[in-house]
Amino acid sequence: MRRGAKITVAGAGALGLTTALALADAGAQVTVFDPAGPADNASGVAAGMLAPAFEAVLDAATAPQFDLLSAARDLWPALEARIDVRIDRSGAVAVGETDYLARTEAGLRTLGLHPTELERRALDGLAPGLAPRWTRGFLVREDWRIEAGQTLAALRRAAQAAGVVFRPERATGFEGGERLVIATGNGRDLAVVAPELANLSPIKGHILRARAAHDGVVVRGQGAYVTGAPGDLTIGATMQAGLDDRSVEPGQVDALRAAGTRLFPAFASADFTAETGVRAATPDGLPMVGRGRHNGVLLAVGARRNGWLLAPLVARLIVACVTEGEVGPYAERLNPARFNAAGK
Ligand SMILES: Cc1cc2nc3c(=O)[nH]c(=O)nc-3n(C[C@H](O)[C@H](O)[C@H](O)COP(=O)(O)OP(=O)(O)OC[C@H]3O[C@@H](n4cnc5c(N)ncnc54)[C@H](O)[C@@H]3O)c2cc1C
Repeated sequence: MRRGAKITVAGAGALGLTTALALADAGAQVTVFDPAGPADNASGVAAGMLAPAFEAVLDAATAPQFDLLSAARDLWPALEARIDVRIDRSGAVAVGETDYLARTEAGLRTLGLHPTELERRALDGLAPGLAPRWTRGFLVREDWRIEAGQTLAALRRAAQAAGVVFRPERATGFEGGERLVIATGNGRDLAVVAPELANLSPIKGHILRARAAHDGVVVRGQGAYVTGAPGDLTIGATMQAGLDDRSVEPGQVDALRAAGTRLFPAFASADFTAETGVRAATPDGLPMVGRGRHNGVLLAVGARRNGWLLAPLVARLIVACVTEGEVGPYAERLNPARFNAAGK
């Protein structure tokens, strides 16, 4: 890439912003297009878990990708040092019925991890307010967390400071750039220059938030996880394949709240608001990252339920494609061409 090469990035979610910043740091002149508000996307509603371990164990689609997810997590400290964000490294705890705990623990051990067994007293320290019925659990230190809204804002500030220009408009093509990075989440506007977008399907998700305290670590239960920061308690999240609307469905809210309350009884009286977002997914659960079929087009889409976790890996790969640099060991697994009829 020539220094000062003009690159258009469509989409200012986790993938678009992280990629825009990395491209600017590599010397490109970057313009980001997005008509939505700064956090009005899947990235803005996400729980912000950077969770290679529990995602590989609890999400069947992601099970074989632990190495890739871990590599993405390992790029976060460099991003933390680059932007004004703090990673919560206190880990995540699993609690649940005996068979769920046994399955989850076995899955973690298969990955070569060594979860720490927790008795009730330890659970009280890590997750105050946990329902008395959960007398056993285990802690995984490999999973981290960021606060999604703050991280979007920090990425945007860092990108602006690095010279990235923001245009609050929908991109319909290259918009004057020599290259176009498509990071439009579940959006399909740019299918005319990226037929690969036809491989995406939506997965709607509900998440509940309350201005209540949850001083503990992330808790992974059956049917819900609970995350917290001071004044921002979150219960997530539904996975509703095939739906791409953002309406709030009372039945989904009630089920999520009930699952959260089984973990923490005090949630029964908390004042939750529901938010929704739409994840974009590919048939194999991994994003499409790299060169598209059309000249000058790069894709950074389809991160499913791990867009935050994967963002720095996606950004690194796009920069490598643009600069003709070393793409690293995960490029083939993420290559958008893997879904083409002949794989070319
Ligand atoms: C409830 C929920 C909880 C989640 N929790 C986690 C989690 O804990 N950890 C994790 O890693 N991931 C999580 N995810 C998944 C994560 O949010 C997504 O994978 C990630 O946000 C995808 O980022 P993105 O940049 O691809 O898309 P988005 O965040 O959807 O951003 C795409 C952007 O593109 C813009 N756009 C669309 N069309 C155009 C166009 N033509 N021109 C310009 N801009 C356009 C949109 O306005 C939007 O702002 C969660 C998702 C949901 C819904």
